[in-house]
Amino acid sequence: MQGSEMGVNAREILQMDRSARLMERAVRRLPGGVNSPVRAFRSVGGDPLFMQRGEGSRIFDADGNSYIDYVMSYGPLVLGHADPEVVRVLEEAVRSGTTFGAPTEVEVDMAELVCEIVPSMEMVRMTNSGTEATMSAIRVARGFTGREKILKFDGNYHGHGDALLVSAGSGVATLGLPDSPGVTKGAAKDTAVLPYNDLEAVRELFEKEGEEIAAVILEPVGGNMGCVPPVEGYLQGLREITEQYGTVLIFDEVMTGFRLARGGAQERFGVTPDMTCLGKIIGGGLPVGAFGGKREIMDRVAPSGPIYQAGTLSGNPLAMAAGLVTLRATGEPGFYEELERLGSRWRSGMTEAASAGERPFTVNQIGSMVSMFFTEGPVMDFGSAARSDTEAFKDFFWHMLRRGIYLAPSQYEAGFISQVHSDDDLDRTFEAAREWFVAAGRG
Ligand SMILES: *Cc1c(COP(=O)(O)O)cnc(C)c1O
Repeated sequence: MQGSEMGVNAREILQMDRSARLMERAVRRLPGGVNSPVRAFRSVGGDPLFMQRGEGSRIFDADGNSYIDYVMSYGPLVLGHADPEVVRVLEEAVRSGTTFGAPTEVEVDMAELVCEIVPSMEMVRMTNSGTEATMSAIRVARGFTGREKILKFDGNYHGHGDALLVSAGSGVATLGLPDSPGVTKGAAKDTAVLPYNDLEAVRELFEKEGEEIAAVILEPVGGNMGCVPPVEGYLQGLREITEQYGTVLIFDEVMTGFRLARGGAQERFGVTPDMTCLGKIIGGGLPVGAFGGKREIMDRVAPSGPIYQAGTLSGNPLAMAAGLVTLRATGEPGFYEELERLGSRWRSGMTEAASAGERPFTVNQIGSMVSMFFTEGPVMDFGSAARSDTEAFKDFFWHMLRRGIYLAPSQYEAGFISQVHSDDDLDRTFEAAREWFVAAGRG
């Protein structure tokens, strides 16, 4: 069945009138009706739901339908929606003024805590988004090394900065062709792109050009081609190669930071990069990013050094307050054990549900990051993720939505479990998934 037909079906079953009317207004004034593309439901057909309210693991749309939410704003809400403590500190902070353009104590608290938690961080600079964090980290790595080339990996997303909005894909792997109109050849030409999880390809590139490469940037666990963990030895191998060539190793932990462990993927895998980018959870649901790393590198950032980076609202007191309580909450005993428990229950529950049908499937999960691919697998890079049957995904997506389960409207987005998802939430999810697999036949 076509996604668009499914969209119509879903509308018949769910009340979606208000969402539909809001979308009619939105498309007239916002490109595609949205402020960020994936929200537009383009890859599943139909119109997006407009959301009104969140509470714990639940999200409520403009028509009053409620869903168990696995999007969680694409990662930030590790404590769930409207966490009472986050709400309380925000209410308190807002009364004291929302921005000063001057340093505040809460920024120092945040910097100290982040450097204490994240193994690679000796110094940090706050930004307003993950995109700013990665753009700035690349500039700093280039300024620090005096080199211009960077290496990224196919299917890894690092925000929409020009130099990083390149994923040349098969055949043109190292040519750095721009992927989006508006990204100039100049901006893209110094970005090499290789397949994820292929250390040999990295070795080959470095043998030729290693001395010219300023930085290697990657998601230590892929989260923007669905959830794709690194293969054994991959992160260690990248650490060794970059060290040998004096290249700055940047872990983009915008998604994985404070999620896969309190100190992120670098703590979980025991591999320490030179620089780290953060975002999402660090803002506790407000717009925040950060980059940091070794002191000798961060000392080169203005005003202590010559590499310019700035922001009118960077280190904003509201954002810092929400982020700080969120990070503190992750330090509660058992916090990550509970996320692990829920994540591995999700893996076994979904595996069991899918096994009830005849469709090929692959469940990828690490900690509280999860993905279901409609292919045999293993899914370990963009090529294998792209083999997933996206028509099946569309159908699955709309089925789950009608059953009150809100998944990201794209095969290539990871799902997120928060600390307040319950066993009952998970059971209802498995049951709905099982229904789909049983009814879907061989396809
Ligand atoms: C979300 C994300 C970004 C971009 O962060 P924004 O806050 O959306 O700009 C960068 N890198 C990774 C790994 C992300 O998941």
